[in-house]
Amino acid sequence: MGLKTPQQYIESLRDGRVTYWDGERIDDITTHPRFAVPIAMTAKDYDYDDPEYRDSRRYQTEDGGFAHRIYQIPRGEKDLASRIGMMGQSAISTLTTGVFMALMSVKDLVAEANPQYAGNIERMYKYARDNDLRAAEVITDPKGDRKRRAHEQDDPDLYVRIVERRADGIVVRGAKLHITAASLIHELVVMPTKGMRQDEKDYAVSFSIPVNAKGVKIINRSFAPAELNPFDYPASAHHSMPEGFVVFDDVFVPWDRVFLAGEVPLASKLAQSLGLWERTGGVVEATRLSELFVGLGQLVTEMQGKESDPIAQASIAELITYAEMIRMGLDYSCRNYEKTPSGMVFPNTLGINTTKYYYAANYHQTVRYLHDLGGGLVLTLPLEADLRNEESGKYIRKYLYTKPNVDVETRMRVYNLIRDLTADAYGGWQFVVALQAGGGLPAQRVMMNRTYDIAKAKARALAAAGATTAKGAKLQAAE
Ligand SMILES: Cc1cc2nc3c(=O)[nH]c(=O)nc-3n(C[C@H](O)[C@H](O)[C@H](O)COP(=O)(O)OP(=O)(O)OC[C@H]3O[C@@H](n4cnc5c(N)ncnc54)[C@H](O)[C@@H]3O)c2cc1C
Repeated sequence: MGLKTPQQYIESLRDGRVTYWDGERIDDITTHPRFAVPIAMTAKDYDYDDPEYRDSRRYQTEDGGFAHRIYQIPRGEKDLASRIGMMGQSAISTLTTGVFMALMSVKDLVAEANPQYAGNIERMYKYARDNDLRAAEVITDPKGDRKRRAHEQDDPDLYVRIVERRADGIVVRGAKLHITAASLIHELVVMPTKGMRQDEKDYAVSFSIPVNAKGVKIINRSFAPAELNPFDYPASAHHSMPEGFVVFDDVFVPWDRVFLAGEVPLASKLAQSLGLWERTGGVVEATRLSELFVGLGQLVTEMQGKESDPIAQASIAELITYAEMIRMGLDYSCRNYEKTPSGMVFPNTLGINTTKYYYAANYHQTVRYLHDLGGGLVLTLPLEADLRNEESGKYIRKYLYTKPNVDVETRMRVYNLIRDLTADAYGGWQFVVALQAGGGLPAQRVMMNRTYDIAKAKARALAAAGATTAKGAKLQAAE
C-alpha cells in the first residue's frame, strides 16, 4: 500500500505477463531494450521525491494518505487546473490511468442499474489508487465488418464478449486493438467500444483485470526502434510508448471486478465517460506541440535570414493561429467546466470536443506550413555521426553555415526536431494520433451535434429572418 518508488514500479512489471514484440515472446520486459524508453518514461512519474514535481504529482486523499494526482476527483476549478498542469508533465502511461477517475464519474448511474457494480467501481478505484497502480483504457474492438453489428459478425469474437457466466464470475473472449501502454501498466480496464442493443447483451461488458491474468496476451508495436541517438532524434529518443494488440483468450473475471455484464443501456455511458478525458489529454498535448511548431517555424526562418519575408511571416501567423485556437479552447473548456450530480468537475464537453476536432482536422495542413518554412533539409540533414567525423564534419559545418550568429550545431538540432516531430517515424505516428487517438473525427462530430444549443441557434436564425420576434413569438403576416 502507498506510493511506489520508480524501482518498485519496475519490479512490479516482473509478474509473468505475456508480451510479444517483433516475433519474440519477452518474459521480462524490464531487461529488454525495446521497453527501456517506455519504462523509463513511466517510472519517472513515480519519482515523488523530485522537489520540482512532488506537489503537482501527488495529492492528499480523503483518507489522509498520498496518491498520484491522476486519481484525484476534481471538485472545483482549482483541482481541474492542477489536473491539467499534471497532465502536461506526465507520460501517457500515467494519463491512461485516469480511466478509474472517469469510471467514478458514472458510478451513481451504474448504481441505479446494479449497486454491486457501482461498489466494484469504487473498490477498484481505491485499490488501484492506494497501491499506486497504472491502468490502460481498453476500449477499441477489432469490429470486423463495419456494416454489421457485434452479434452479426461471421466470427462472434470480433467484439469482446462474455462466453460463460459462472457463480464466481464471467469468462470473456475477444481482442482490443491499439491499447496504449498495455504492457507497461498493471490493470486493463475494459469497456464497450460503443452502445449495444438488447440482442447484444453479451457484448455489453466492462471490467478490470490484471495484465498478468491467465489468458491475456499482448502483441506490441511502436514507431521507435530500441535505441535512438538524442541528437538526431531529439523527441523520440526519449519518448515512445508501445500500443498493444490485447487478446483475451477465455479470461476469467471474478464478479467483484465486473462493472457491467449485460446492462445494455449503460454500455455507451461508460465509453462516453472516458472519451471526454481522453480528448482533454489530446488537447493538452496539442497545446504543447503547437507552441513548439511556432518556435521551430520562427527559428528556421531566422536562421535562414527570411524573417522579413512576407510569405514566411504569413506562414508563422498560421502556426500562431493554430496554437492559440487550441490553447484558448482548452482554457475556455476549463473555465466553463461542468459538474456531475455527485459534484465531480469536468471540462466543458462541447468546448473539448470542438477543440479536439479543430486540432485533428487542421493538424496535417498546419504541419505543411512548418515543412514549407524548413525546406528539404527537414529530411536530408546528415546524421550526428557524420558531423563528428572530422573528414565529413568540416563540409557539413562549411555548407550549413548561414550567418555569423547562427551556430551550425544548433541549426541541425532545430531541423532534427522538426523532422522527428513531423516527418519521420514518430512524426508519422503523430499524424495518425492526431486523427484517431481519443476517437476519430466522427466521434467528435456526434458529440458536437449533441451538445451544441441548436434550438437557441434556430430561434435566433428565425428571428433574424423576420419570421419570429426575438422572444420566439410568431409574427403576423403583413395585412
Ligand atoms: C496511437 C493510437 C493509440 C490509441 N490508443 C488507444 C487506447 O489506449 N485505447 C483504446 O481503446 N483505443 C485506442 N486507440 C484507438 C482509437 O480510439 C481508434 O483508432 C479510433 O477510435 C478509430 O477507430 P478504428 O481505428 O477502429 O477506425 P475505424 O472505426 O475503422 O475508422 C476508420 C474510418 O472508417 C469509418 N467508419 C467506421 N465505422 C463505420 C461505419 N459503420 N460506417 C461507415 N464508416 C465507418 C470512420 O468514419 C473512419 O473514417 C488508439 C489509436 C491510435 C492510432
